[in-house]
Amino acid sequence: MGNVNSKKYVLVLDAGTTSVRAILYNREGKVCSMAQKETMQFYPEPGWVEQDPQEMLSALLGVIMEALTRIRATTDDVAAIGVANQRETTIVWNKNTGEPVYNAIVWQCRRTSDLADELVKKGLEEPIRKKTGLRVDAYFSATKVKWILDNVEGARQAADNGDLLFGTVDTWIVYNLTAGKVHITDYSNASRTMLFNINTLEWDNDILKELDIPMSMLPEVKESSEIYGYLEYEQLGGKDKVPIASVIGDQQASLFGQQCFDEGDAKITYGTGCFILMNTDERIVFSNNGLVTTIAWGIDGKVKYALEGSIFVAGAAIQWLRDSMHLLDDSFDSEYLAMKSTDSGGCYVVPAFTGLGAPHWDQYARGTIVGITRGTTKSHIVRATLEAIAYQVVDVTHAMMEDSGLDLTHIQVDGGASSNDFLMQFQADMLEKIVRRPGDVEATAMGAAYLAGLATGFWTDISEIRALKSEARHFEPSMDKDERNKLYKGWNKAVKYSYSWAKDDDE
Ligand code: ADP
Repeated sequence: MGNVNSKKYVLVLDAGTTSVRAILYNREGKVCSMAQKETMQFYPEPGWVEQDPQEMLSALLGVIMEALTRIRATTDDVAAIGVANQRETTIVWNKNTGEPVYNAIVWQCRRTSDLADELVKKGLEEPIRKKTGLRVDAYFSATKVKWILDNVEGARQAADNGDLLFGTVDTWIVYNLTAGKVHITDYSNASRTMLFNINTLEWDNDILKELDIPMSMLPEVKESSEIYGYLEYEQLGGKDKVPIASVIGDQQASLFGQQCFDEGDAKITYGTGCFILMNTDERIVFSNNGLVTTIAWGIDGKVKYALEGSIFVAGAAIQWLRDSMHLLDDSFDSEYLAMKSTDSGGCYVVPAFTGLGAPHWDQYARGTIVGITRGTTKSHIVRATLEAIAYQVVDVTHAMMEDSGLDLTHIQVDGGASSNDFLMQFQADMLEKIVRRPGDVEATAMGAAYLAGLATGFWTDISEIRALKSEARHFEPSMDKDERNKLYKGWNKAVKYSYSWAKDDDE
């Protein structure tokens, strides 16, 4: 292997739900090249979502080549490879042939809802939560693995013979990049399977037995920043051995990429939905408000934990204004339209299109608009919709502070809708905290880059990483306290009108 000091880049492979990307970072933490390719999703039945693991790999190989050739680089210029991935998505393959026995079952897939309900009926919700930090749900990998073993012909027998391997997307990628030599995952991804005990840091025998999943299928669980193996992909050429040196789930990757290294640091990603994670350091905090407890990362012999909450509808509400209501031509225009009024005119939009998540947890809630008068304008509705995103974030962060007893010290934002200055200012006002938006909002890939760079000496330590941070803008709270309390009180009233709407009145 060439000397790490002579290497120019860290290569990040970001395997998302709809696309894969390869990004090359230089020593200053700047993006030097990037290539992206969409991957297909299949919907064989309503509510089912699948991907082709082989397509994912060939797309990945394509983007690696493209990102390198764009800047006339080869793998010999690469100090380390880091992987950030969509979480929970489940792949099972035969270790003798390397062939998947079934498509990847994507995190969004609801086919195993009944299996999850059965676990709850058996009274296992609380024991599973204590062990894994998660709410029993089809979303996590556990019931998806069981479904494959129970439904794919010959799978159960092959698993019992020790011929099958399970992995999340990170595991599948590392296994293939190392020509089948390395079968690993990291703590952050393991903590999303609902099979991993986050207290003892081991796969949980009781849950495996309950679901009839053999231990022999499971990957070895490693830190998020260490050398797992070396790239052995002939098509990529190169003389030097390139270490694969980080693996981390996408939301945790963005927490690291946003440099939320300390207790109380939080990041909010404003995409279609919203993901909020708060670092609780080495402390496992179980939530009384329906948040999940997750492993943030493992590095230097230590495991850090986080509380995680998500909002189902965030940017999606702006898409709805654009595509269904035709109030906007572009999501970007929401800012200008919202600023045309000085307030929402007493109007509240509750975008509970598919129910409400933490801390409300009402699957029967539906969207509503309240407080409409003859004076309500398009601008008021647009503004109220943006404000609703911020109010939902406040609900979740309040729950996090209550559960952890921690104050939010540092709030970093990223994701498509974080570019909206009105939304960010309103968010700072409602949280009564400074909201910080970095120059590079691709925090997920950045996190994997930092972790791979740290494992290989490309960057020496966290203080060197801290110096790479670029803040484009921060938003300071400036709203009068009484005004803030009045607005939030209105939201709390409005959100109650959406509760239980889809329930049959006779129930
Ligand atoms: P995802 O990764 O979930 O696909 P992105 O991070 O790309 O999402 O963000 C896209 C979402 O952000 C869309 O729902 C879009 O409506 C919303 N969005 C993008 N730009 C803005 C903006 N300037 N103001 C408000 N919402 C926006």
